[in-house]
Amino acid sequence: MAIDGENKQYEATTFFQTDDEHTEVMVILYDLTTVLKVERMQADFLANASHEFKTPLTAITGFAETLQGSAGEDQSIREQFLQIISDETKKLTLLVNDVLSLSKIKHEPDRNTEERINLYMLVQEQWQSIQHLVIKNDIKLVNDIPDNFEVVTFKNDLTIIVKNLLANAVKYNRENGQVRLSAQKTADHWSFSVRDTGIGIPTNQQARVFERFYRGDESRQKTIADGTGLGLAIVNELLAKHQGNIKLNSQVGVGTTFTVIFPNK
Ligand code: ADP
Repeated sequence: MAIDGENKQYEATTFFQTDDEHTEVMVILYDLTTVLKVERMQADFLANASHEFKTPLTAITGFAETLQGSAGEDQSIREQFLQIISDETKKLTLLVNDVLSLSKIKHEPDRNTEERINLYMLVQEQWQSIQHLVIKNDIKLVNDIPDNFEVVTFKNDLTIIVKNLLANAVKYNRENGQVRLSAQKTADHWSFSVRDTGIGIPTNQQARVFERFYRGDESRQKTIADGTGLGLAIVNELLAKHQGNIKLNSQVGVGTTFTVIFPNK
């Protein structure tokens, strides 16, 4: 049934009663649209997750079995295959961690409390925590956030948001590129932006980058960087939890800016 242009699904139960004079009909309609939508999303998530787990697992099993055969006697082959097994195991760990983070946001009660946080310092700390990526791509951080910029929010959640956006700005940057951070406050909200000088996101992919397991064509094909396709989905879920918002502005070959907006407390 279509209502206001939206397709709705109902379960209908009818009761019918009649006597000499009257006929009564009662129709009870249950709106199942949301329940069915959630069920579909859960089924999609499971299918996608299984697929993503299967790829590294197949590689690990395949290379381990080959090593058990005569190929394992050749030292250079052994080293090469063990490296692949180690890389694929790391991918699985990333995947498990990201799936667990997503599930926690949805299902675990929030034990964090709000606290006053210096955003400039938080960015500096998170930049340090992704040094392995920074060094690999030789990226420079320009932190234009004033060093006394303070906000009141949930530290763990803001940390994950900042870390995921910084990691992407580094992973999808060009060599010797730059990541510039800025922040603003107005009467009713505060925001910060992460701007990179990277590969950019084609217009037709921009709406999809927040979907679970979505990875851009470039990221998949060129294997520029490891990833699970869950980083921005996690950012999005965390922002929804705090009535926050995220905007994306990007130009292929020029760079991408993500702007995160929080209401003032
Ligand atoms: P992951 O980085 O693990 O692939 P994300 O959910 O963090 O997953 O991002 C989804 C996709 O969005 C990435 O695969 C990439 O194609 C694109 N993307 C995200 N951030 C950027 C960025 N700063 N510049 C270019 N592309 C990006």
